[in-house]
Amino acid sequence: MTRPDIALSPEALAAQLRGKYGHLSGGSLLEALVSNELGGQIMLSSSFGAESAVLLDLVAQVDPTIPVIFLDTRRLFGETLRYQKTLADHLGLEDVRIVRPDDGVLQRLDPEDMLFASDPDKCCEIRKVAPLDKILTKMGNLGFKAWITGRKNFQSDTRSAMPSIEADADFIKINPLADWSSDDIKQAYLAKNLPPHPLVADGFKSLGCMPCTVRVAEGADARSGRWAGRTKSECGIHISRSAASSPIN
Ligand code: SF4
Repeated sequence: MTRPDIALSPEALAAQLRGKYGHLSGGSLLEALVSNELGGQIMLSSSFGAESAVLLDLVAQVDPTIPVIFLDTRRLFGETLRYQKTLADHLGLEDVRIVRPDDGVLQRLDPEDMLFASDPDKCCEIRKVAPLDKILTKMGNLGFKAWITGRKNFQSDTRSAMPSIEADADFIKINPLADWSSDDIKQAYLAKNLPPHPLVADGFKSLGCMPCTVRVAEGADARSGRWAGRTKSECGIHISRSAASSPIN
C-alpha cells in the first residue's frame, strides 16, 4: 500500500487523489482508496437513513472494520435507531460508533427539546455539528485522514457540483455516490436485496430528526421533506469545517 504523502495539505492530497481516482465511483473508488492509499485511515459517517444502506453495503464489502460514525441527535425516529442496529447486523459492520450530543449542553441550551423550532441552526450545531467535530478531532489525532459520506449531486443545488474527492479542513471527504442517480440507488437496493428503512414505505424519502422531517408526495424532491417551510437545507455537518465558526458557549 502506498501511503499518501502526509506532508500534503488536504487540498493538495484531495487534488492528487482526484487525479488518480477521480474517474472511479461507488465500490471501485472505495476499493482503490482503501487498498492503495488510505487503509486504516478512513472512516464513514452515516445517518442510517432512507438511502444509507447502499453506501454501508459498499463499505462492508471493501472492509467491514472501517469505523462507521452514527450521530444520535436524541431527536431521531425510534425506527431509525432500530434500523441502525438491524442494518449493521445485516451487513456485518464491525465498528459502529454512536456519537451523541453533550448532556450538559442540551440541559443548558435546549432543556425543553424545542430549540429546533426557534433556532434550528443552533439546534443542529449542538446536536450534530459539535459532537461530530469532537469525534473527527479525536479520529484525526489517531491518524485518520479521510471521511466517507453518502452525499449525491442530485440531492440539492449545494451538492450539484460536489466532486467524489474533496478537501474539508484537516480531512479529505470521499463521496463515492456523488454521481449516482436516484435510480442507481433504487437499483442497488434491489440488486443486493438491502433492507429498506421502515419509514420509506410510509412516505418518508429523506430521514433526519423527527421534528424536522415530513413525508413528501410521490415524485417530489426527497430533500423537500427536511426542514419543510424553512430556507434551511443543510444541518451544517457538511459545511466545510474550515469555514465553521460557531463555538458552543
Ligand atoms: S434536524 Fe432539527 S431536531 Fe435535528 S438537530 Fe437539526 S434542528 Fe435539531
